[in-house]
Order: sequence, then structure tokens, then C-alpha cells
Amino acid sequence: MKNKILKVKGMHCASCKNLIEGRVKKITGVEKIEVNFATEQAKINFDETKVSLEKMNEEIKNLGYSFEDNEAKMETKIMEHMGHEHHNEDEHLEHKVQFVFPISVLVFLVMMWDIGARTLNFIPNIPMPMELWNLILLILATVTIFWIGQPYLKAVVRAIKYKAVNMDTLIGIGTLTAYVYSALLTLMPQIGSWLNLPTETYFDVTIVVIGFISLGKQLETNSKRKTGETIKKLLGLQAKTALLWKDGKEVEVLISEVKIDDVLIIKPGAKIPVDGIVVSGFSSVDESMISGEPLPVDKKNGDVVVGATINKQGSFRMRATKIGAETMLAQIIKIVEEAAGSVAPIQTLADKISAVFVPIVLLVAFLSLIIWLLTGNVTLALLSFVGVLVIACPCALGLATPTAIIAGVGAGAENGILIKNAESLQKLASIDTVVLDKTGTITKGEPQITDIISIDKNYSEMEVLRYAAAVEKLSEHPLAVTIVQKAKSEKLELGEVKKFESKAGIGVVGMVNKKKVSVEKFEGNDELIEMGKTLVAIKIGGKMVGKIALSDTLKDEAIETIKKLHRQKIEVIMLTGDNQKTAEYVAKEVGIDQVIAGVLPQEKAIKIRELQDKRKKVVMAGDGINDAPALIQAEVGIAMATGTDIAMESAGITLLGGDIGKIPQSIKLARETMKTIKQNLFWAFIYNIVGIPVAAGILYPFFGLILNPIFAGMAMSLSSVSVVTNSLRLKWKKL
Ligand code: ADP
Ligand code: MG
Repeated sequence: MKNKILKVKGMHCASCKNLIEGRVKKITGVEKIEVNFATEQAKINFDETKVSLEKMNEEIKNLGYSFEDNEAKMETKIMEHMGHEHHNEDEHLEHKVQFVFPISVLVFLVMMWDIGARTLNFIPNIPMPMELWNLILLILATVTIFWIGQPYLKAVVRAIKYKAVNMDTLIGIGTLTAYVYSALLTLMPQIGSWLNLPTETYFDVTIVVIGFISLGKQLETNSKRKTGETIKKLLGLQAKTALLWKDGKEVEVLISEVKIDDVLIIKPGAKIPVDGIVVSGFSSVDESMISGEPLPVDKKNGDVVVGATINKQGSFRMRATKIGAETMLAQIIKIVEEAAGSVAPIQTLADKISAVFVPIVLLVAFLSLIIWLLTGNVTLALLSFVGVLVIACPCALGLATPTAIIAGVGAGAENGILIKNAESLQKLASIDTVVLDKTGTITKGEPQITDIISIDKNYSEMEVLRYAAAVEKLSEHPLAVTIVQKAKSEKLELGEVKKFESKAGIGVVGMVNKKKVSVEKFEGNDELIEMGKTLVAIKIGGKMVGKIALSDTLKDEAIETIKKLHRQKIEVIMLTGDNQKTAEYVAKEVGIDQVIAGVLPQEKAIKIRELQDKRKKVVMAGDGINDAPALIQAEVGIAMATGTDIAMESAGITLLGGDIGKIPQSIKLARETMKTIKQNLFWAFIYNIVGIPVAAGILYPFFGLILNPIFAGMAMSLSSVSVVTNSLRLKWKKL
């Protein structure tokens, strides 16, 4: 089974999505296909042994589309992004609009004048014989429909040939009808008088509708591109060259030539080319483009630096650890790209509707044509037929969700919030409970030793520390790291450990000097625990010989974050493997009122489950490595990224820089995005629900009112443009 993302060429409207999906799904060997109109991409799952790309392409070629293999390697993509991509089709559209739009406006003004002259006495008649004006219109309309309107005419031909209708078909039938009818009346007036038809022509409908719809499409393409600008921006962050330290010399090389373990020189003000570790020197680095954090971060020997961030005054050398597609920036781009193209569950509703839409609209249009013809009102029959076809485009419906998702995901990325897919964003909007892991999420995860207590006089405080550190040196737990560091700074000789064993969430055991030594969670009461410290017991040969108390500081933004979450009407719960008393102390300090403590790592997912059983919609925020099962169990898992590894499988959302202040921001972003989608869907629906009956002439018997197809065309373009613009607002929302 193969998974591929392909570029789709030739999509004009939201209903194209259904057409393509319908056709391709029927091919044997195709498991799944998801087409996204906003990104013009198709995600296909298929069996390579049964079906090829060419076969699929053949199938949709008749419908006027084609797939293009777009899976360019990230490296080449980053290399190639400089210089603008050429959008040939878009450019064509632009030229066409430049031609047809002024004509449409002119024709529109003349039409308004004509209406005015007929209804209001003080407006003079158009100083031109009707016949001449008609002839001019005939020429303009002919050019418009056969040149600018080509895609719509092709859609009509396809509809006849392959019985495949989409939005363009509707516009094609509508404008062609108006054109053919008017041309017949103009060129063969005898037919008109023979059938006793009114003398009015509808060239203006053809011209103005095509003109406005083309303009609408052009505006839509522009804003669609703008909603997706984040990726371009991210690509643009990549450095182009690097200063390599080679054989005692500085050599400037292309970034593609940098290899892992190369030593690179970073000068003041320079862009860091790839991910790596500082090996000498000292500086501070502006990481805002990646993490969204405005304050520069100090970098010294051993610190991780990220490609695309910018060095400030200092200068240092770094060893490259990640290059090409492995770099953090490349991972971010990949995640953003995939998320922007993913489908939110809410979209399926819109898709289902637009799938049945086109046939229904055709039916309504023909019905109103027949009904009004039966009443003998040819003008009305024609206007309603064309009007219904033109106003009914579900373009806005198709754009409502994806454009908001793209804008939302982009706004997130610019604030250091990486959203894996649209589904996570949608779910995040409706959660009511946030569960926070204590160590490393609420606290910094860098505990300090506050007390070392000897209980057995055979073991001094330093002996207690030495034995503890001897076992802990094989553990990666933050407590272990701290204990070992302390022992080293006291210059203690750490013995060798044998039979080392780590018990997740409890502690460690091992043999040191033939004695069984354990460092584990202290069970029982102690005033140090009451003070909010984490206490571990050191046992030798099963007997407790000492205790070490550690305390972790809260993250700077922790208190403010909890306040914000409460203001968002979200229940906040602390989940930890630590002692209940310690946990409660920290919880109180930070303003959390609910604590679930003493939970083993493997039980964290069960605790989440229990909350879900109480009908809570839970977000779990943790470090993404230890807490993976809980992150997966939760509605949405939020991982705190600290290093450069961000492609976390278990998390729907990754916060760069381990900043919990981004949790309320993400929730706000999710809520705003969903609000935008709902507004978009509402307006798109309303517009069609009201527009179609009015265009069909339902108001005519009562008020003598009929929607001129010209206004239908304007309304249609306007609705798409307004949906896209509404989505664009997300990009500028302050989080
Ligand atoms: P948290 O849920 O806060 O991340 P853990 O599940 O990692 O905490 O650990 C829970 C408790 O188990 C710690 O507070 C500590 O008392 C004990 N513990 C875990 N690992 C170790 C270790 N390597 N050394 C000493 N104590 C440990
Ligand atoms: Mg932890």
C-alpha cells in the first residue's frame, strides 16, 4: 500500500473535489482518496501492484483534471524555494480579468443607465440606437464567452460527453443560454417576432457574470495563496550557506554540502545553518522565528542550537547534528504542510451537501424555466433559469473549512504552536479539561537538591549522596541527573553499579560495593514533603540510611497560564507520579485545585480514561516521551518540545520551547478557527438558501421581484471572497 500526496491541476470549484474523488475511488487498487480544494492537493492510498499513477490520471483527464507528482524531497524543496514559483494558470487568469473586468463594469453601468432611463423621467435615454448597442454587446459577449469563459464551456461539453457536472457546468449552461438566446434575437430578429418574443437581449448577463466570477476567482486565488503563506515564509528562513571550519580554515559552503559532525563557525548576526550543538564560544540567539518567543536565548558549550535562528553579538562554533530533512525547520515545514492539507471532521458535512448540490440546482433551474414558460413569461423564464444556475455555486461552501484550517495552522506555526492535523484543532476547540504533568511541564524539570539527611551514622551525608549518585548515574530521570551532578561537584568518587534496574515512576536499584542500593520515592510523612519538596529515600541492604530532598522551580509562565486557562472556563488538573503532599503544595503554589498524585507512568493513560468516563473532554499536556500513552488517550495530546525533536507521534499539538503559556494560546486559536469555520459555513449556506429561491422567481408573484443574473454573479463572487477574507483574519488574531 502506498501513500502519496499529489498536486491536482484544473480544479475550479469545490464540487470538483467530489467529482475527482468519486471517479478515482472506483478504480480497483485505490484504497482512499481525499482531495483538498483549498490546497489543490490529493492524498491517495493505493496498491501500487494494482494501479499506477498514469491509470488514475487517465481516469480524471476526461473530467479536465490531472495529478502531478509533488513529492519533492524536502531538501530540494528548501534549496529550490528561492525565486518565485511560476503560476502559469494564475497569470493567465490575471490577464483575462484585466481584460474582461473593465468591460463588465462598463456594460454594467450602461445597463443601470438603461434601467434608470426607463423608470425615472429625469434620466435621458442612452444616446445610441438599441441596434448598434446590441451589436457592440454581441461582439463583446462573443469574445468574453469563447475566450474568458472557455473553462465553463468546456465544462458544458464534458457534462454532455461524460455526464460529469460541476460548478463550472452551471455557470457554463447559464451564460451560454443567455448568449445563444440573445445572439439568435440579434442576428435573426424574424425568429423573435415569429415567436412573439420580447426584444430584450441578455448579452450583458453573459459578460458581467463571467467578468465578476473571473474577478472573484482571481481574488480567491490571491487570498488562498495568502492563507498558505506560512510555508513559504518558513522555507525562506533557511540559511543558504554555512561557514565550515576545515583544515584550520574558514570555508563558505552551500548548506547542502554541510555534513553531520562538521564544525561550523557562527559569526555575530549570522543565521545558524543547521541544527547542532555549541562546541565553543558563547552567545545569545534569537529563536523567535521558530519558537515564537521574543527573548533571545543564551547559548554556551553543549547547548542545542536550531537552524534558521539568528545569532546575536557573540560568536561560537557548533557541531552539526541534523541536516536536510532532519532539521527542526524541515520537520516544522512538513508538519505544517500536512496539517494545512488535512481534512477537519466538520468539513464532511459541507462536502456531502455540495455533492448533491449541483444536480439539485440543475433541477431547480429547469423547473423554474418550465414553470415560467408555461405562464408565458419568456423573460422571467430565461432570467430565473440563468440566475439559479449562476447563484448556486457552492464555492464558498467548499472554501469555508479548508481556508480557515490553513490560516489557523499557519497562525499557530508562527507562534511556536505546531498543529499536526485539522482534527486535533477541531477537537481542541471543544475541550473542557486540561491535565498537566507536573515535572517538566508545570515545573522546569531541573530540580535542585535542598537537603541531604543522614539517618544511619555509618553513612555521612556525603556517603548518602555518593551511594545515591552511584546508582542514579545510569538513570536519565531529572532527579537522577541532579543527584549525579551534585555528587560530581562535590568531587565524590562514584563506585561501579551492577544489576542496575530502573522502576518507572518509583526509582532505581543496583549493586554498589556488593551492597544493594536503592533510591526510591519516599513513602510516609515528612515535614520536607509538607514544604513541597520531592523526597527520595536511599536504602542500603534494605535499610534506609538517608534521604535527599529536591525542589523544582515553577516555570515562569506557570501561574499566569493556569489563570488564563481558568478564565477560558477550563478545569485544570495536575497529574504526577510524585507524592500527594508534594504535589498538593506545588498545585497550591501555581493555582491548581485538583491533583492526581502517586500515579505510575503506565497508569497515567488510565487516569485520563477515568476523566473521559466522567464525560470530560480532556487535553493532556506532557513531555511527549514518558507521557506518550496518556497523550494518545486524551482527546488532544499536547507535547512540550525541548530539544529539536518535534515530530512527536503521540501528540496532536507540539509546543516549541516547552512553553506552557502556549496551551491557552492554542486553545484560543482552536476556538477562533472553529468559530471562523462556523461563520463561513453559515454564510455560505444562507447565501444559497436565500439566493436560489429568489433567483427562481419565488418573490415575483408577490412583489414582482426577480434577481437579475448579473447580481447573482456578483453575489456568488462576493460570497467566496468574503469567506476567504474571513479566514484570513485568523492570521492577524492576537493569541
Ligand atoms: P512525574 O509524574 O512528576 O513526571 P515520575 O513518574 O517520573 O514523576 O516519578 C515519580 C516519582 O518517582 C518521583 O517523584 C520520585 O520520587 C520517584 N522517582 C522516579 N524516578 C526516580 C529516580 N531515578 N530516582 C529517584 N526517584 C525517582
Ligand atoms: Mg514526567
